Amino acid sequence: MSAQSRHPIPLLTPQLPERALLQPYLDRIDASRHYSNFGPLNQALEERLTAFFAPHSAAGVQVVTTSSATTGLELALASLELPPGSRVLVPALTFVATLTAVLRAGLVPVVCDIDPENWLLTPEIAEAAITSTGALAALPVAAFGQPVDTLAWSQFQQRHGVKVVVDAAGAFGSQWVAASDIAVVFSMHATKTLAAGEGGLVVGGDSAQLASIRQMSNFGINLDPAAQLPVGMLTRVGSNAKLSEYHAAVAHASLDGWQAQAAQRREIYADYRQTLQSRCGDKLQWQAGETLAAPTLFCVRLPDAERRERLEQQAGSLGVSTRRWYQPLLHQHGAAVQPLVVLATPNAEKVAAGLIGLPFSCFINHTQIKYIADIVYSAVTNISNTHY
Ligand SMILES: *Cc1c(COP(=O)(O)O)cnc(C)c1O
Repeated sequence: MSAQSRHPIPLLTPQLPERALLQPYLDRIDASRHYSNFGPLNQALEERLTAFFAPHSAAGVQVVTTSSATTGLELALASLELPPGSRVLVPALTFVATLTAVLRAGLVPVVCDIDPENWLLTPEIAEAAITSTGALAALPVAAFGQPVDTLAWSQFQQRHGVKVVVDAAGAFGSQWVAASDIAVVFSMHATKTLAAGEGGLVVGGDSAQLASIRQMSNFGINLDPAAQLPVGMLTRVGSNAKLSEYHAAVAHASLDGWQAQAAQRREIYADYRQTLQSRCGDKLQWQAGETLAAPTLFCVRLPDAERRERLEQQAGSLGVSTRRWYQPLLHQHGAAVQPLVVLATPNAEKVAAGLIGLPFSCFINHTQIKYIADIVYSAVTNISNTHY
């Protein structure tokens, strides 16, 4: 191993646009003196993103920005206008924000199992769960950036009258919105594929739903002179979930460099996976599904919890960061996180037991990848790591 590869390897190193690339957008803010409240940069960003999604959406979609994916999810759930306490299906294996959004929208999460191959809540699993729980909505997740099938979820929504919102926070570029009757929420957090620092997007084809989400992102104030209530009056109870012009500026600059960064991420991911695969072979299992357009995580399943623990110890002692992504499972957090309905989750538990996130960023090099592959190999085959 080269001396360089012995340096600590961080789990994630976000790469946001540098100052010079922000300059033209910051100049536009100085000129407009608009700093938030649906300003011109935000409007232009929504237009660019609408054009980004349009070729993949037969019926056309609109984009509403929010302050984060979490607030976008809360407002998208609120826009369904379900009775308080209605049940919402969520997968057991996802980021905690999926759960907090449901609870903060005054709804009750129903924690469901996942598909053992693609690690997602699927319409088939959801179908069985609505029968036993009477759930009125489902919040499938593009876990680890793996896109969900919006057309299949749209059919599910129509067949059962169960409303669907998709949490695609980490799947920008891989998740399209082919169905016109489902809202899909993306994150622009620093660690996601389209990074603005903080921010979110709601993409959907139902213009009334998107208008309601936009209104709720601005407290619920009516701004439409043609509406029944006067302008300035509160139509419903919203929040402050607007994207500032400064965040919109960063999002624009990120979007300018998005294709290039996505290509770089794909290339690194492919090399990484190939290197681990040829070193460790059938000891490793991967999430089934599409090759992602812009991976931001590197997650793999080891054969069992014991070998994962060994890997965590060996990697930790060598300064290589790892993370048990999405763990604990949604129903294994503190007792104050309630109310919850919990279904049997044997697949989620099995997948989670060996799941480990390894370092991934645009800055990781092949030497580091080989070094990590050696550590993983030693952990899964139980050989000592003294030869490092
Ligand atoms: C990152 C993430 C979120 C939260 O996104 P924010 O923009 O940080 O609020 C929600 N769900 C999933 C699956 C995520 O990966």
